[in-house]
Amino acid sequence: MEQLPSTPAQVSGGASTWPGSAPVEAAPRRAVWWRWVAWLGLSGLIWAGYFSWRPPQPMLEMRHIEHLSRDMPEVAITFDDAPHPVITPLLLASLRRAGVKATFFVIGQGLKRYPELARRLLLEGHELGNHSQNHHNLSTVERSAFAEEVLHPFGGIADVRRLSGAENLTPQTRLFRPPGGGMDRDVMEFLWRNKLTLAWWSNNVGDWARPPAWKIFNGVEAHMRPGDIILLHDGLGAYGTAQAIPIIVREAHDQGLQCVLMPQQ
Ligand SMILES: [Zn+2]
Repeated sequence: MEQLPSTPAQVSGGASTWPGSAPVEAAPRRAVWWRWVAWLGLSGLIWAGYFSWRPPQPMLEMRHIEHLSRDMPEVAITFDDAPHPVITPLLLASLRRAGVKATFFVIGQGLKRYPELARRLLLEGHELGNHSQNHHNLSTVERSAFAEEVLHPFGGIADVRRLSGAENLTPQTRLFRPPGGGMDRDVMEFLWRNKLTLAWWSNNVGDWARPPAWKIFNGVEAHMRPGDIILLHDGLGAYGTAQAIPIIVREAHDQGLQCVLMPQQ
């Protein structure tokens, strides 16, 4: 018995020619074509958006330093969270013994309590930068508090400079280093509007966690490059940091690198 075809294709061997029915492939083809047009249009729009996007103005124009010139045989040693009544004198003694100068990022509150220590820093040839008034992470602070947190300590630094007779020797600092590196777009915009310089770093061993001196030295040495800004910490318990300074400086000198102050502007 002859087997009957079960589909139109089996009848014709190709397109739908079921007797009495209209061709059915024309509509899907048109749909596929439109889908391509829509896809091309959409990707064109996405690419146009991508190439025409520009970062916001503060991002483009804000001054920031994250390292010195990589072509110069120099590194800068910096300390956050200064001054501290016990640790700052130890750091000063270590720096004096090593024969180098450093930049201390001071907290406004500490400056108010220990102006004499800040004055000693300047008199011994070190420089001051601003590390906020109360050491709050600025990305968690209301905009209305930015003036107090960011601008106020510059006034304290200016007072100490005046007391130390340093105001005519070097320009007043514009350096600001945000506590914990806490930044967001509002903070960035505030720094930009006030023509401040974001003082970043390129060598961070994490000595804020108070590891022993050998770990601090090994960490700094392992990544030391010309132009580095080395981030270290003053403050309660930073004995390892004070002990590590002479070894860090000796390693820098062995690599032919001089220790310099960060540019203040
Ligand atoms: Zn800090």
